[in-house]
Amino acid sequence: MQARTCKVYIISKLSEHKVYSQTLKQKKLKKDNLLIEDYIENSNLSCDDAGDDHISTGLETPMKKDSFAMSDKEKKVKISHLFKEIMDVLGLDLTDDSLKDTPNRVAKMYIEEIFSGLNPANKPKISLFENKYRYKQMLVEKDITFYSNCEHHFVPFTGKAHVAYVSSGKVIGLSKLNRIVQYYAKRPQVQERLTNQIAEDLKEILNTKDVAVIIDAKHLCVSSRGVKDNTSSTITSYYGGVFQDSAKITELQNYINK
Ligand SMILES: [Zn+2]
Repeated sequence: MQARTCKVYIISKLSEHKVYSQTLKQKKLKKDNLLIEDYIENSNLSCDDAGDDHISTGLETPMKKDSFAMSDKEKKVKISHLFKEIMDVLGLDLTDDSLKDTPNRVAKMYIEEIFSGLNPANKPKISLFENKYRYKQMLVEKDITFYSNCEHHFVPFTGKAHVAYVSSGKVIGLSKLNRIVQYYAKRPQVQERLTNQIAEDLKEILNTKDVAVIIDAKHLCVSSRGVKDNTSSTITSYYGGVFQDSAKITELQNYINK
């Protein structure tokens, strides 16, 4: 084969390859579009049907096995990229000065702040002290303000947590009760699970069943969208050990309502 023929042959092979890979790409695109169309057709993307049931599936936050295979830094890069895609799909101009850094801001906020409680490395270090005062009645830490996010809509729910316990010999620093609430709130959550996670952790830390948690919260997925009710609030409670006694519940509620 002469040099020129060879070149032409290669070019024609290359263009064949190009056409072939383009056809493949188009086929894939067509397949993807069909899949998306199919998905839209068959999925119940009606938010009215799917959106408002706040079902809590278990005590543990459902996590993948390899949740922490990626570093926080890698997660932020990936979230920023994906959030940019969402903004782009919404039709926002990402070259606009006000919007261009939003994907990075959201990624940083997710990992370092509002969802930092997903990572056990961020769990507050708890130290206990001897109950030197021999205080045997309930201790109530009330009106702990928290901010969490509904895992069904990814919008905030916020309110007050009231935590009580009776010492079984050890006492916990008061600010730690606050920190435990904040740790479990900083996850995509449902209020029922948040209540139980705080209670179960306190039971383990304080080595007692005598723990109570009451949460009163407003959900933005109820007030700002959906039924748009901005006066209702949701109350959940956990009463363990001595707090199952109705007199103790009344006593606790009297302190909280003061
Ligand atoms: Zn919700």
